[in-house]
Amino acid sequence: MAIKPTDDLDFQAGPSEDEGRLVSPENTLSDTDIENSLRPKSLDDNEFIGQAKAKENLRIYIQAAKMRGEPLDHLLLYGPPGLGKTTLAGIVAAEMGVQFRTTSGPAIEKPGDLAALLTNLQEGDVLFVDEIHRLSRQVEEVLYPALEDYALDIMIGKGPSAQSIRINLPRFTLVGATTRAGQLSSPLRDRFGVILKLEMYNNEELARIVRRSSGILDIACDGPGAEVIASRSRGTPRVANRLLKRVRDYAMVMGKSSIDDAAALYAMEKMEIDASGLDNLDRRLLIAVIEMYGGGPVGLDTLAAALGEEAVTLEDVCEPYLMQTGLLARTPRGRCVTQLAWKHLGRTPPQAENADAGQRTLEELLEQRDGE
Ligand code: ADP
Repeated sequence: MAIKPTDDLDFQAGPSEDEGRLVSPENTLSDTDIENSLRPKSLDDNEFIGQAKAKENLRIYIQAAKMRGEPLDHLLLYGPPGLGKTTLAGIVAAEMGVQFRTTSGPAIEKPGDLAALLTNLQEGDVLFVDEIHRLSRQVEEVLYPALEDYALDIMIGKGPSAQSIRINLPRFTLVGATTRAGQLSSPLRDRFGVILKLEMYNNEELARIVRRSSGILDIACDGPGAEVIASRSRGTPRVANRLLKRVRDYAMVMGKSSIDDAAALYAMEKMEIDASGLDNLDRRLLIAVIEMYGGGPVGLDTLAAALGEEAVTLEDVCEPYLMQTGLLARTPRGRCVTQLAWKHLGRTPPQAENADAGQRTLEELLEQRDGE
């Protein structure tokens, strides 16, 4: 079977600047169409892969709620972007056999927006609020009675003649998603009956996700090819799916009928994504801390100015993975690279002789993580 090209890549030029970072876990516009077709539809182990703990708990809660004939308790999902929060929320609705409504924290600007959403729900519906930590205080206040008593308290009129009216709502399930559980106010957090944390995926799970997606997208991809893609996906299914699409393009131009490890490695080299999933920006960041600030500490804003990038980009997009892999550390005085980062970039770290972390490579550490 010949590999079909995607129509949005200039093969000669390689990935362009404005395409965004291939390893970014954030959703981009070009992802949205295909992402929906790739979303697992059930908790089945061959559909929603990995996250065994979260799935096991969810299965029990869903079954119990169904047996009681009640909606599921409000559910909070937290974890880095691209790990499957939206997907899980959709699956909850499907398994409960109810409608799935989606919105996001920043989209609900005023209490009236929330009231309109809630009054349009039907009994049992799942309302998914992405980035729930970004709800304003005023909107949150309206949400509390809705979550607790399925009621809205609305003020009519102003001044001394103002009256509060209570409107009953259908019983519904709120599924909130956040990348920053710590930023959620505690009254809001306390109103969720179930809180589930999604973990980064290991390489074996990511390779299964790549194989599943390649089947849906009709791209032939063998085991070793899937493993190369998985190992550079930063523990994130969204990145794995995006890399799969890009590698397909390179494989096609190489005249391959399926993605194998040679095609995947060639594509990664061209996209400048290294064996640990670091891209150019990650490496520039680490190199800047080493070369310009002797390994740190350096403040985030200073670093952003030195790299010509936005501080939020570095903070939200580069740093989580660099910190998770132990290459970068956040200290009260600023960012520091670790001994591992010096080694990863082929440099000799200061005092490498007596440092324990200096004895091991990033690849070894990642392998150990996957084995656990
Ligand atoms: P989030 O809401 O956490 O940012 P999404 O639910 O949008 O993440 O997931 C991003 C993409 O990753 C989805 O399109 C889906 O195809 C894929 N994905 C996420 N989790 C899984 C999983 N456990 N198994 C298979 N694919 C997954």
